[in-house]
Amino acid sequence: MPRTHRFSILAILLVLCFAFAAVSTGEPESSTTLAAGDGLQWYKGNLHTHSHWSDGDDYLEMIALWYKERDYDFLCFTDHNVLANTERWVEVDKTKGGRTAYDKLKARFPDWIEEREGEGGLEVRLRTFAEVSEKIAEPGKYLLIQGEEISDRFDSHPIHLNASNIQEVIPPIGGDSVLETMQNNVNAVIAQRERTGQPILVHLNHPNFGYAITAEELMRVVGENFFEVYNGHPSVHNSGDHVHASTERIWDVILTWRITELDLPLMYGLAVDDGHEYHNIPSRASEPGRGWVVVLAEELTPDALIDSLEAGRFYASSGVDLKRVSSSPTGLKVEVDAEEGVEYTIDFIGTRRGFDSTSEEKTDDDGNPIRTTRSYSDDVGELLQSTTATSAEYHFTGDELYVRARITSTREHPNPAEPGEFERAWSQPILGPAANRNPKKPTSP
Ligand SMILES: [Zn+2]
Ligand SMILES: [Zn+2]
Repeated sequence: MPRTHRFSILAILLVLCFAFAAVSTGEPESSTTLAAGDGLQWYKGNLHTHSHWSDGDDYLEMIALWYKERDYDFLCFTDHNVLANTERWVEVDKTKGGRTAYDKLKARFPDWIEEREGEGGLEVRLRTFAEVSEKIAEPGKYLLIQGEEISDRFDSHPIHLNASNIQEVIPPIGGDSVLETMQNNVNAVIAQRERTGQPILVHLNHPNFGYAITAEELMRVVGENFFEVYNGHPSVHNSGDHVHASTERIWDVILTWRITELDLPLMYGLAVDDGHEYHNIPSRASEPGRGWVVVLAEELTPDALIDSLEAGRFYASSGVDLKRVSSSPTGLKVEVDAEEGVEYTIDFIGTRRGFDSTSEEKTDDDGNPIRTTRSYSDDVGELLQSTTATSAEYHFTGDELYVRARITSTREHPNPAEPGEFERAWSQPILGPAANRNPKKPTSP
């Protein structure tokens, strides 16, 4: 091979290496465009699902079909503290889905159902994850992923973390504080990942369920870089209330402090269903189809999806589709896959260098402190730009620590977690030009 050719191959390899490094760190130094094409596809999936293996009201195979028939590409089962990998028989009338679920299963799979008469009446064997995946998943078309919702608590505070693509069940580890309980469970997932060599994605679920988890706690968990900005369960308070911060507010506090003070990676936001109830849709119960992630990946495998999720190559949605998300040294651009007759507001949100970093403890009407996310200035998670269009670009002015985009549709969510929701999408945050170059460190909250 001529010397010049070898040089150009070396140069190409170096460029590719740098391009890869830029994607995986989220640095805005190079340009990254998330769009289908060149061997990459958008894959839509839900990472939070309950079944008869814990407190859901349907069988795994029927839930897998529900998503498959609605053009989802992947689904992760995440029952509480259990994997569907043992022989388990249930009394039909004592299951949450009862006869309704049984009749539907029997009609759909008359030759597949395994049943027997027990002392308490009719029993059905719950099919394992492996059996259901074998029957319903299709390579390259529809992927089922084994997961667990590690469901722990500290005092009365529920602390739930999902582990997607988990290989062995992890019982809740516990801890001496909310933060330590989160960290101990994250550490257990990371240890399994290292031991098995399988990628396992850990994420913090519904921080506002029971208003259990504050931004100040979640920001400090090491190895935990994903949380649910949108959870479809109607009891999880995505929007917070007059005292408690919304999940988006929590996100902005975490991002700001991780960049300026904690030197931890960006936190990414997921939308999930957390579905438990599958027989009366739509209603005000916890149903499937409310929130999902769309991941840009090379192929439909747990490895490829988790690789992309960890590199921030995805967005979260409760109804809005995105065509393209581009980040570059000059800013962030979002293009909506627009629908006829619908308008979109694209909000760019971020925090600037020199922001007011003071915060106050929240108190009740009698002045007693409340254990919740502190109150911060409007500088944290500032609305930098708002555009009504199907595509918009935010140009860095130079002092942004990070920027993220939220897209809100004029169409109401057809089956919302909270009344009055409009369909939305959330891009992942990218670092701004002022990240890691903040001369004045803010005080600790
Ligand atoms: Zn939960
Ligand atoms: Zn759940």
